[in-house]
Amino acid sequence: NQGIGSWPERRLRISPHRPALWFEGRTATHGEFALDVRRAASVLQELGVQKGDRVAWFGANHPAALHTLYACGQLGAVWVPVNARLSAAEARYVLEHSGTTLVVHGAEHAGTAAALRAELPQVRSWLSAEPAEGADDWQARVAAAEPVARDEAVTHDDPCLIMYTSGTTGRPKGALLTHGNMTWSCLNQVLGFDFTPDERTLGLAPLFHIGGLNGTLNPTLLRGGCVVLVRGFDPAGTLQVIAEQRVTSFFAVATMLDAMSKQPGFATLDLSALRTIGAAGAPLPLPVLRTWLDRGVTVQQAYGMTESAPAGTVLDSADAVAKVGSAGKQQFFVDVRVVRPDGTECDPGEVGEVVLSGANIMAGYWEAPEATAEVIRDGWYHSGDAGSVDEDGYLYIRDRYKDMIISGGENVYPAEVESALRELPQVGEAAVIGVPHEHWGEVGLAVLVPAPGFDPATDPDGEGVRTALRDRLAGFKVPKEVRWAAELPKTATGKIRKPDLRHAYVLTEE
Ligand code: ATP
Ligand code: MG
Repeated sequence: NQGIGSWPERRLRISPHRPALWFEGRTATHGEFALDVRRAASVLQELGVQKGDRVAWFGANHPAALHTLYACGQLGAVWVPVNARLSAAEARYVLEHSGTTLVVHGAEHAGTAAALRAELPQVRSWLSAEPAEGADDWQARVAAAEPVARDEAVTHDDPCLIMYTSGTTGRPKGALLTHGNMTWSCLNQVLGFDFTPDERTLGLAPLFHIGGLNGTLNPTLLRGGCVVLVRGFDPAGTLQVIAEQRVTSFFAVATMLDAMSKQPGFATLDLSALRTIGAAGAPLPLPVLRTWLDRGVTVQQAYGMTESAPAGTVLDSADAVAKVGSAGKQQFFVDVRVVRPDGTECDPGEVGEVVLSGANIMAGYWEAPEATAEVIRDGWYHSGDAGSVDEDGYLYIRDRYKDMIISGGENVYPAEVESALRELPQVGEAAVIGVPHEHWGEVGLAVLVPAPGFDPATDPDGEGVRTALRDRLAGFKVPKEVRWAAELPKTATGKIRKPDLRHAYVLTEE
């Protein structure tokens, strides 16, 4: 077995007594983890799972997610992580589209599972990771199963998982990642973040998204370190786990880092073990980065996507301060370029599309050859993201082309405007979208969550905000309109869902 299913087995031989997985007070060693994976594979096999079959994990973070992933890897089955936040109808789409035949779900999803059962006859078995009323008990089955060593013929070219993209810009697409994609991406991450066997990485971001799964978590297991797994993100509780469990690293998106840094007690929290944070997935406002840098924690901005599993670029820890704001340079086994529409490479400072090539790039979108052909052209994955490199070759991500606003012929990248907005004392969170305008073509509309203690009634039209922004940004970048809101719509990873904002603020007002 050359796939990831062999990783726990290899660790069993190399470092069986080292800690592998902490969850709610209990630690499994790498040896124990490997045996749990074997048992999980036995259960799947008993239930008829064969090579190539799709097995879904539908839930919040839980050890069963990792057990099913690696067990699938041992059998050559394909793991399908399903976003735990999806509605029943959305989950149904993913299960149906992926052709899933067995679902392991979190106990919190027992109700949804029961409702979907009748609608999805193709799914032969539904099991709950923890005991739940009326549900088949996965845990009990695993505890009773034999830890049989297996050696299926699984190669780097075999499919490992179908991961649906975050759905930030529309309906999620199913990226088919092979065992080779997973291996090369995780090796890139091990190199880029200097993971060691002493790593204690926090499994904080959802495992059903690539950053949560492969940002720091699987690379740490590969390296023989320990994963400190939490069910989900709660700013205060997460900070406590970081301090108590002597967490050394984690992956997060900006909104999570922002929320944590605003917790009372953040300034004095014991972060002495925390070596580095991998931050990616969405634009990272400088003020958010600086809060953590000021606490002496290295933040390594990275750039990647589901389709690259997610290795792309990473800022070396040595550059974290000098090049703050940059997503760094290409990871070791990935080529990353910024190109013009004709495919030639951009000069320093020139904005172009970021394209990637490497053994970590997905095989394609599941059952969507046309969508695949649109993004993988001439051996390069076209990200749809606008970026530029500086004189030293460091990458700066501007924004998604889809979100770019063209105002009076000038390109405005909302991420830059949002970053400037957040530096204002009255602003908590900020999102900028383009709205049609008779004269300028498009203008920016800022939707702002007030900072704690600021009363938006004192600046109802946002004129104060706009005036303050004019000192920081060119006039054409200053949003023409400002709206105050109680919160912003976000994906499960905390990315701001701009289509929802457009729907709420633009489409209804046209
Ligand atoms: P969908 O493709 O379904 O719309 P998504 O693109 O958000 O959702 P992911 O694959 O999870 O799904 O996210 C990858 C995207 O996140 C990248 O294409 C890029 O737009 C954004 N991103 C990743 N890293 C960074 C970064 N460091 N700075 C800015 N944006 C980033
Ligand atoms: Mg995308």
